[in-house]
Amino acid sequence: MTTGEIIDGKAFAAEVRARVAEGVAAFRAKAARAPGLAVVLVGEDPASAVYVRSKGKATREAGMESFAHRLPAEASQDDLIALVERLNTDGAVDGILVQLPLPKQIDERAVIAAIAPDKDVDGFHPENAGRLASGLDGFVPCTPLGCLMMLKDRLGDLSGLDAVVIGRSNIVGKPMAQLLLGESCTVTIAHSRTRNLPAVIGRADIIVAAVGRPQMIKGDWIKPGATVIDVGINRVPAEEEGKTRLVGDVDFAGALPHVAAITPVPGGVGPMTIAVLLRNTLVAAHRHAGLPFEVEGL
Ligand code: NDP
Repeated sequence: MTTGEIIDGKAFAAEVRARVAEGVAAFRAKAARAPGLAVVLVGEDPASAVYVRSKGKATREAGMESFAHRLPAEASQDDLIALVERLNTDGAVDGILVQLPLPKQIDERAVIAAIAPDKDVDGFHPENAGRLASGLDGFVPCTPLGCLMMLKDRLGDLSGLDAVVIGRSNIVGKPMAQLLLGESCTVTIAHSRTRNLPAVIGRADIIVAAVGRPQMIKGDWIKPGATVIDVGINRVPAEEEGKTRLVGDVDFAGALPHVAAITPVPGGVGPMTIAVLLRNTLVAAHRHAGLPFEVEGL
């Protein structure tokens, strides 16, 4: 039985981060300042705290300034928006990231809408979503942009390929579909109401799974030779009692014999998300400094 290739997202993300670091060094020489990323954490959610710490570390390792802001879990929406507005006008801050999810008294949409679109390095602001849909320059959400970079690295020109994106969230599924359409793929977006998902998936040359259901996509649904990007991160019980492990939305072992290539979970899409966040911050810094963004491979 043949076996597909495993796409090493960790290695690819390390390459992207090295290119960002070179771009940061060149930017500092020209602009006489470092690009800056502000990360805002509200409350004590342990998973969010881990993400925020690793984003801060990666930012500093790339040679950028990292500004961490913490608000208590009971902070009001007005408190958070006031902080965002201060960051909007802070000349040392090129990118603003508000870690989601937010406590229930705060409306995420109102906070995202308060971020200046030119500092919205997460690409969640409606203006940036509209820019992506209209084919205009803007910020694209990090996870789908990372997926596209991996696909282009592997497949080169994507035009004419059949792509199926499973999931239609604003942060992954929809922008992923827009990006693939921008590359002239024939794009299908599947979701919880899709009929006969195995048949829809079976047509695809490219499958991007962003559902959040452990191993729901089975190997024998996949057309032989397809390329699979698994965005899902699901925690399931491990064989050892009391332990857990991470799996994707695709049945990895079942898919491997069918695919040309597939991203593993963990070690696939996850590491790319932070790498692209750094890339987007570097882009923002260039725009704020009035410099062209010409970093090779980014
Ligand atoms: P959401 O919960 O916002 O969206 C899930 C999507 O999956 C929805 O569009 C839903 O359809 C669809 N769906 C649910 N059940 C089915 C089904 N049985 N068949 C087909 N479609 C279904 O999730 P996100 O987009 O935020 O995240 C998706 C996954 O990606 C999660 O596991 C998340 O942890 C992971 N993730 C990973 C990141 C990374 O860095 N690697 C970053 C962001 C997310 P409907 O709209 O009809 O409800």
